Amino acid sequence: MSEKPPFEFGQQVYVVHSSAHAQRQVTCPVCDGQRRITVILGDGERVSVECRFCEEGYLGSQGTVNAYGPSASVTCGTVDGISLDHRGEWDIQVRGICYRVGSLFTTEAEAEAAREIAYAEAEKYALESYEEQFKRGRKSKGYGWTVGYHRDQIKDLERKLAWHRNKVRAVAEDDGR
Ligand SMILES: [Zn+2]
Repeated sequence: MSEKPPFEFGQQVYVVHSSAHAQRQVTCPVCDGQRRITVILGDGERVSVECRFCEEGYLGSQGTVNAYGPSASVTCGTVDGISLDHRGEWDIQVRGICYRVGSLFTTEAEAEAAREIAYAEAEKYALESYEEQFKRGRKSKGYGWTVGYHRDQIKDLERKLAWHRNKVRAVAEDDGR
């Protein structure tokens, strides 16, 4: 293979990393971070109980839950390895980790632009798997999960509703021209 590699040894490059399943901590959607919720019994009596939605075993309620969502970031490093794979495509190694040419950039501005595109793609994928993440573990969390699941579904539907409203408005504006 006589083709020249797109990067050189020791060259500084910017690497774009993205994921649709990055773990992050969010405020518990059931107790709003208060760790306790009030249950109204059939006779009207109010009792305060520990929130089970954000319960973490013996640690008790934490007020936060782990959610999985999109993320994209840019890091900087120097090329310390270059190789050709079996399909004749370049693998560029930065700090010992191999990357495809498409996720490496020579300037920070180019990498930032690519990060935005990668984030939008990760967000789209994360939205598709959003329901799945809340269905999992529902059984073991009892009422807390039921409430949390439906509240999150409502938020999701509100987001979709806003998106569709925007689309309708865009179409109406187009017609007006
Ligand atoms: Zn909670």
